[in-house]
Amino acid sequence: MRPVELSPLFAPAQSLNGIGPRMAVLLSKALDLPPNVTEPRIIDLIWHLPTGVVDRRAEPTVAHAAPGSISTLKVRVLKHRPAPRGNKKAPYKVACEDDTGRLDLVFFHADRRFIERQLPVGEQRYISGRVELFGENLQMTHPDYIVSPDARHELPLLEPVYGLTAGLSGKVLYKAVRQALERIPTLPEWQEPNWLSTRGWPSFAESIERLHRPRETSDVSTGSDPWQRISYDELLASQIALAIVRLKLKSQAGRQIAGDGSIREKIRQALPFALTNSQTQALEEVYADMAGPNRMLRLLQGDVGSGKTVVALMAMADAIEIGAQAAIMAPTEVLARQHMETIEPLATSVGLRVGLLTGREKGKARQAVLDKLAAGDLDILVGTHALFQPDVIFDDLALAVIDEQHRFGVHQRLALQAKGKGGGANVLVMTATPIPRTLLMTNFGDLDVSRLTEKPPGRKPIVTKMLPIEGIERLVARLRTQLAEGAQVYWVCPLIESSEKSELAAAEERAAHLAQIFGAENVGLLHGAMTGPAKDKTMNAFAGNNFQILVSTTVIEVGVNVPNANIMVIEHAERFGLAQLHQLRGRVGRGDRQSYCMLLYKAPLGNIASERLQMMERTEDGFEIAEKDLELRGGGEVLGARQSGAPGYRVANVPNFEELLAAAHDDARMLLNEDPDLQSPRGESIRTLLYLFECDEAARLFRAA
Ligand code: ADP
Ligand code: MG
Repeated sequence: MRPVELSPLFAPAQSLNGIGPRMAVLLSKALDLPPNVTEPRIIDLIWHLPTGVVDRRAEPTVAHAAPGSISTLKVRVLKHRPAPRGNKKAPYKVACEDDTGRLDLVFFHADRRFIERQLPVGEQRYISGRVELFGENLQMTHPDYIVSPDARHELPLLEPVYGLTAGLSGKVLYKAVRQALERIPTLPEWQEPNWLSTRGWPSFAESIERLHRPRETSDVSTGSDPWQRISYDELLASQIALAIVRLKLKSQAGRQIAGDGSIREKIRQALPFALTNSQTQALEEVYADMAGPNRMLRLLQGDVGSGKTVVALMAMADAIEIGAQAAIMAPTEVLARQHMETIEPLATSVGLRVGLLTGREKGKARQAVLDKLAAGDLDILVGTHALFQPDVIFDDLALAVIDEQHRFGVHQRLALQAKGKGGGANVLVMTATPIPRTLLMTNFGDLDVSRLTEKPPGRKPIVTKMLPIEGIERLVARLRTQLAEGAQVYWVCPLIESSEKSELAAAEERAAHLAQIFGAENVGLLHGAMTGPAKDKTMNAFAGNNFQILVSTTVIEVGVNVPNANIMVIEHAERFGLAQLHQLRGRVGRGDRQSYCMLLYKAPLGNIASERLQMMERTEDGFEIAEKDLELRGGGEVLGARQSGAPGYRVANVPNFEELLAAAHDDARMLLNEDPDLQSPRGESIRTLLYLFECDEAARLFRAA
């Protein structure tokens, strides 16, 4: 349970004055809410940090007000001069003065009564806005602030500027934020005093205060002390949460698996190839984990085509040797079916029973799979996220393999694992995205990692070339020769405009174009709007070499394996990120034939796009590419953080993210070493921190311990 002292922060923003249902809708657009939050809350206003500051501190006399500058002036109202009747374009002017000179306030499309109320003749007012020179006269058009002397404090001399949305004004938002600030309770300090003083960081309360009510313009910058402090709070919370989840998972006794090797040996003999050293090494690590007393939580990282599937199968075989079950889960239907096709023949040839469960298995067929699963009549279940459904019950799940991890969230991972006996299956996560260390840390904490560093032998380097789209006819001519020699081609057409429809249209158009040249029977089309069976049919026909050119939208992005395909053409390659280009290219280069990747682009190329494409020409090294991708795009996107439910940071997107992260990582580890139950005074306040940053799951796990 969240501590009650934090409750005010998690109350709906609608509980603030001036925030009704309409405003709430605008706020949810402007505030970048976490994925499962629909109603904006007070805390969301607090995390909505300013993007800049308007400095209104210059308070000159009228005579000294510099045209072009933002100034705050104290003036007397002299006279109202409404626009002449019938001239809607002329402004409403209000003449003002102080002892040194005169200045006009200028209003277009004025609401006369409003202005009269704001600026009664003869009274004094503070006004703030940009001073301009109009002919000989000083003026201020639409002052940002007009306040009476007794309301002077309502005029922020350093006014934060916020990300807004149409219909939401900065003033209204700021008013809400200021109310939100009033709701912040007194909280215990959760950071080490030494660390704070080394860094010169203020307390949490002061930091938040200075970000929303800056004392200096420099307060509102990602490098400022308050901003750094809050970023560190957020990073520490997430690092502790990850460490807790991991400790908890690992400390629960795992299912100890020590098979006799019999099934593994049979599979090894049935394989048409020898395992690479990397594969053997990874398997040894997996077997050692599973044989140990703690539950396995291991990431198998291997570039596209490095042969992860067979590692998964050999790991599952270990579980089956002791009479238990294993599951492998893929992020898409197509991939699940492909796993099925790879695994089933091998598995059945050595006497294993394999079932498939995706969103498409329904009714009786589905029930039949579930029955066998529960009765222990299936050894391996292959599927999609359909495996998470509560009625999917294993007789004895000992190993869960999750492919292409970054598409699943932490919750889902935990859910699958919980299907093991006593809630504790071993988990092997496989990813083709070479995840840089910093991202590994943020997303998984100290996950154990095995790496497939070598590719199966005999793979030739893929020749990668950039080509302006104008050169497409030359490309087509070259394809003719290649196709005559039996080549197979992937041709990817990405989203051109923002709608799915136009992506489809582009692919359809290209397919028609290629069909004219190479014959309709030789061109297939694959796109996201197709039904599952239709996709399978096309994919299978391509895999079976029934046609040579597969035009597709980006649906083939992950995992597909057609070894005979040796040419990848990517249209509008400039629109893809590096990681995605690398994934796409990884579809070829799997067979004996020389492979090619043609990056068609539309000139002129921007700097970043150009760097990306050149990088692709230069290297096939997934790690190098991932690091570059990180550099070009910044952290979160590489893992598609937001969509996948991995933690996305609200504050900590700062330039020195990695440095802070590394410190938070060590801090978290030390803290939990010394105080694993979070019972020291600092531990207690760390719990508050966890709830503040909504690491509730971790906090709850912790309570259960
Ligand atoms: P990924 O790591 O991208 O999932 P796959 O598991 O799909 O890669 O394997 C890619 C291809 O490499 C498959 O056709 C697979 O049969 C083949 N393969 C896997 N291991 C080896 C090996 N040791 N020697 C030769 N080919 C292998
Ligand atoms: Mg794969």
